Formats: sequence, structure tokens, C-alpha cells
Amino acid sequence: MPTHLPGLIDPLHCVAKGRHWRGRLSLAKMGRLARMVSNLGDEVEVDLRFEREGRVAAITGSVRGELEVTCQRCLAPLRIAVDSPVKLGVVTSIDEGNRLPEAYEPLLLEQERIPFASIVEDELILAIPPVPRHSRCSPATTRSEDPDFEAAAGERENPFSVLARLKTRE
Ligand SMILES: [Zn+2]
Repeated sequence: MPTHLPGLIDPLHCVAKGRHWRGRLSLAKMGRLARMVSNLGDEVEVDLRFEREGRVAAITGSVRGELEVTCQRCLAPLRIAVDSPVKLGVVTSIDEGNRLPEAYEPLLLEQERIPFASIVEDELILAIPPVPRHSRCSPATTRSEDPDFEAAAGERENPFSVLARLKTRE
């Protein structure tokens, strides 16, 4: 089994060939995710199998790793452990997606070839809560009036921290 993950793939062709990849993928390679997390130096572990399951062109496996986002209560870093089982059905129309068995999430192909990393990226983005918060914020970091802390939070191009600053002005 190859450990070098592919770039562009044709998912339906991969299903027909029964391809299976396992390896590590750098978060920095995922553009949409890169705007939401701060640990771009980290990698996630990916294990994806492409195969036909009944009438479904399936992609199954797992994505494991950690994402660092900004806590929306105290604005300190918050690490989210991701261990997502993947169960996708490749479809080429919304109609086809609606007919998928319930156990599968549709992966709607808008073009024949897509970046392998985009499948992983979608799973990671889904793992981030809409409003990420520590279950208990550390009191030492809940000092948003500290000017240095504000500056540090503002330096990051993070949509969540921008949102949080807007909220604190209300
Ligand atoms: Zn917090």
C-alpha cells in the first residue's frame, strides 16, 4: 500500500481500481482550513479506501490529528482532537446524492478530478465546532483587556478571532 498520498485523483476511477492510501498530510496544504487553524506545521494521519460497496462508490477510512483554533470565550488557543471515521459515497448529481443509503455522506463531484487533500480537508472542517470553546477556560488567559493579548490575537488571520473581537465590542 502506498504511503505517499496522491495529488489530484479521479475518485470514481480510484473506486473502480480499489485504491487504498495511508499516510500523513500537512495541514499547510489545505487552503480553506489554513484560514481556520493555527497549527499549520502539524500533520494529520489519513487512511482512505476507495471501493465499491453494493451500488455505492464508497470512500471509507479515517482522519486523525489535532487542530488548534481560538477559543471564542477566552481567545486562547484551543486544541481539538480529531478522530473522524470517513464514510462517503461519490455522486455526480444531487439526485444521486439523495438516493445514497443513509450511512453515507455524499461527495458531490463537480469535476472528474479533485485534490485528494480536499476530501481530508472537508472532514477536518466538519470537525471544528461552529463556536469553539474550552470546556473550562483557564482564568489566567481570560484577560481580553490586556493590550498585549489583544495584539497577539489580532495578528493571526483567524476568522474566529475577528468574530470574537467584533462580539466584545457590542
Ligand atoms: Zn477558553
